[in-house]
Amino acid sequence: MALDDLYREIILEHFRSPRNKGRLDNPDVFAEGVNPLCGDEVCLGLALLGDRVQEVRVEGHGCSISQASCSMMSEAIKGRTLAEVEGLAQAFKGQMLGGEPADPAVDLGDLEALEGVKQFPVRIKCALLAWNTLLGGLASRAHGEREVKLVEE
Ligand code: ZN
Repeated sequence: MALDDLYREIILEHFRSPRNKGRLDNPDVFAEGVNPLCGDEVCLGLALLGDRVQEVRVEGHGCSISQASCSMMSEAIKGRTLAEVEGLAQAFKGQMLGGEPADPAVDLGDLEALEGVKQFPVRIKCALLAWNTLLGGLASRAHGEREVKLVEE
């Protein structure tokens, strides 16, 4: 199977069976993100234990890239410290936006499957929505807020 086909399969599999779907009752971090260009939406809730992501739930709708990216992100960050999450986010964004060589120390797991998306600039926002929403949520938490809504431009 060609790599592109394999990646497409992984993306569709996450889209059809999203991981960590749903909502948390009392999230420590809650963020909504919207990508109006494509009509993608995501609601992200995190439960923290100390500085570690204990639980994550994602709800959303939109294109397969955006929703698969949410699902992959939720798997990638669960159980990680906030510093590790930040590192993953920067690594993924660096890879998506190009220009940055992949850091062999950072294992992006299924997220690698989104690499092909960067050939399609208009879809990059779809892939990044989950991560930008996550980073926005963490930033607003640092400012003492528990909820934030972000709109991609
Ligand atoms: Zn999209």
